[in-house]
Amino acid sequence: MRYAIFGDIHANLEGLQAVLEDAQDMECTDFVCLGDIVGYSSNPVECLDIVRDMGCPVIKGNHDEEAVLDTSLEGLNPLAKQAMEWTRAQLSEENKEYLRNLKLVRQVSDFTIVHSSLDTPGNWTYVTNKFDAMASFSYQFTQLCFYGHTHFPRIYEKADSVQPLEGTDVDIEMGKKYFINCGSAGQPRDGDWRAAYAIYDVEEQHVSIRRLEYDIQKTQQKILDSGLPEMLAHRLAIGK
Ligand code: ZN
Repeated sequence: MRYAIFGDIHANLEGLQAVLEDAQDMECTDFVCLGDIVGYSSNPVECLDIVRDMGCPVIKGNHDEEAVLDTSLEGLNPLAKQAMEWTRAQLSEENKEYLRNLKLVRQVSDFTIVHSSLDTPGNWTYVTNKFDAMASFSYQFTQLCFYGHTHFPRIYEKADSVQPLEGTDVDIEMGKKYFINCGSAGQPRDGDWRAAYAIYDVEEQHVSIRRLEYDIQKTQQKILDSGLPEMLAHRLAIGK
């Protein structure tokens, strides 16, 4: 059994397709989505349709939550605000109902999935260091938990203490816990523009994060053509 675990798609259809094609090539048998299907790029409905039709476990991200609200967007930065207004206008009531019904945390087989962190999943806090990870670990009752939100692949290991591991591959060891950021399929922010997702091989007890080139010019052109802020097209190329 081999899971493909992906998220932070952010309406980037080409990024999502690259991930799913690679997952097939890698003979993944099961799929899991970590949320933020929509927001930022120009194909929110297409990405939503693909993920929903896969019938796989999905959890809610902050952009999925924001996209279905009618509330004002004053708290968001101008870029996110403009993108969110655009995204809200694209989604049908049915699309919004689907997003509204997503849960914040789920257990899938023997692991947990959450978009942001397990300690306060609805507050959308960012886990960017070992102290943030420690807070989440105290609510983690499975050996493995996969998360997203930062768009930055990272593996935290909890043994006697909590440490971020070097690299993006790990052999799962008995007696330790892992909190694993799978990176972003649609808008990486670790300086590498390529789409990211994780493979969890259950028999091998191994997790690896993969990076994939995709047709980024196509995604950028669609963003520009759709009237979304230009900056959203440019940032894809620098992976920030
Ligand atoms: Zn996100």
